[in-house]
Amino acid sequence: MKHNLCVIGYGGMGGWHTRHALTSDDVNLKGIYDIDPKKSELAKSNGIYAYESLEEVLSDKDIDLVTIAIPNDQHRDMVIKCLEAGKNVICEKPVTMSSKVLQEMIDAAKKSGKLFTVHQNRRWDVDFLAMKQIHDSGEIGEIFNIESRIHGSRGIPSDWRCQKAYGGGMVLDWGVHLIDQICQILKGKITKVYCKLDHITNDEVDDGFKLDLTFDNGARAYVEVGTYNFIDMPRFYMQGKEGTAIITNWQEDAKVVHCKYWHENDVLPVKTAAGLTKTMAPRDSVTTDTYTIDKPASDVHDFYRNFTRAIEGKETQLVTHAQVMRVMRIMEACFESDKKGQVIDFTDM
Ligand code: NAD
Repeated sequence: MKHNLCVIGYGGMGGWHTRHALTSDDVNLKGIYDIDPKKSELAKSNGIYAYESLEEVLSDKDIDLVTIAIPNDQHRDMVIKCLEAGKNVICEKPVTMSSKVLQEMIDAAKKSGKLFTVHQNRRWDVDFLAMKQIHDSGEIGEIFNIESRIHGSRGIPSDWRCQKAYGGGMVLDWGVHLIDQICQILKGKITKVYCKLDHITNDEVDDGFKLDLTFDNGARAYVEVGTYNFIDMPRFYMQGKEGTAIITNWQEDAKVVHCKYWHENDVLPVKTAAGLTKTMAPRDSVTTDTYTIDKPASDVHDFYRNFTRAIEGKETQLVTHAQVMRVMRIMEACFESDKKGQVIDFTDM
């Protein structure tokens, strides 16, 4: 069964959702609604019906699903209006800007009896899936450190994303994805959050950040977003007690070095700069195996597939209220940590 969808907001991401819907087996694109008449004209020129008003969308009984892709500060009101009108709702990330407001959205969903989820589409990124696969397989043993970085060199976009009132800044824009991915990989509970925001090109919002998460089982995660990096650092780096995994960039496969034998009898010192070291001497193939992991299969259509099946009562939704609340609380702790210049004790759920 195909569910009739309206996409609210026909900008960059709204355009993505409409193109996605046009190739979907699960939804039928009924139209878009955008507050900007130029966007409505653009939709029409692309052969897509453009609703004249929000009221027209909300009163259209044929539509049982809306996807909201408008600036972050407007998510709350739009989500609640759509739920109250009896629509199931997908909201773009970040779902909103505070846990208090998110709770209002969750309460509205419960009251309406309709489903509400968030488009955490980067759970279908193959680099993330490769790291999760290596973690879950146990092939490099117990994971004690994972580092996730995303680097660009163009500063923060100059649209609403560079303004605080609209929910701009890189914690909310990219952090929300990378933190969500870490929460999907590591199983422990977070006990401490330490974050430093960057303001290299923008004083009003963060144009990057560096975040340390400590888990109750001793594992650590480091998340970094940079928009002033002319040389990228690796996308993912993960250390287990029996090896290390790395993904250098989006395009590359994961590389794993697995430790076969911890002890080496005769390590030859290597020359480094002006000295010698045994401690830092590279391993050889006698004690380690090196291999790459094929990119895991991934189909981002599974996001809509799952949510429409959840509407039909055949599956439970993959992106849950508890998960988005956890990520929202971590982002709040990031802002608090930066403001106070302190490590924040975190009570995980
Ligand atoms: P955008 O500025 O390109 O588009 C926003 C659109 O919303 C504009 O066309 C604007 O006219 C319209 N709009 C604003 N207020 C409206 C209202 N009240 N009713 C109807 N239309 C309204 O922004 P974007 O890049 O498309 O971002 C939109 C949302 O999507 C944001 O929450 C953003 O964080 C998210 N996003 C998610 C991803 C992802 O990978 N999941 C990627 C990019 C953006």
